Amino acid sequence: MPNGRTHFIAGTICGALGSLVIQDQLHDNKELDTRHLLLSTGTGAAVSRLPDILEPAFHPNHRAFFHSFTFGALLGFAGVQVVKKIKEKRRQRKTLGLQQISGTEILLAIALVAIVVISLHLLMDMFTKRGLPVV
Ligand SMILES: [Zn+2]
Repeated sequence: MPNGRTHFIAGTICGALGSLVIQDQLHDNKELDTRHLLLSTGTGAAVSRLPDILEPAFHPNHRAFFHSFTFGALLGFAGVQVVKKIKEKRRQRKTLGLQQISGTEILLAIALVAIVVISLHLLMDMFTKRGLPVV
């Protein structure tokens, strides 16, 4: 069963990997932006335990909405919208001939990392004995 430490480690690694994937997709010059890597890794670490902070494990049935399949589906929907917005912003930047990634793109990428890391938390909890509730 994943505990807080397991979620933290998984979220931190996912944040770092997410930054590498996003930078590979967004950067044309393929240079590693260490600020983005640190921001993304920190975001992954910070949100890795968010569902357990919102619904602390005070009793065996603590998992409610923020640990549910419904919340996971909402995260998935939000993730798709964020990816669409990132692609749109990237296309606009290319049209203008700009190399520099905008602040909006960075924020969207960080939001995407947060969504993926929280989804990872739910995925890890899903494979425990108690699983996840539907709502
Ligand atoms: Zn949890």
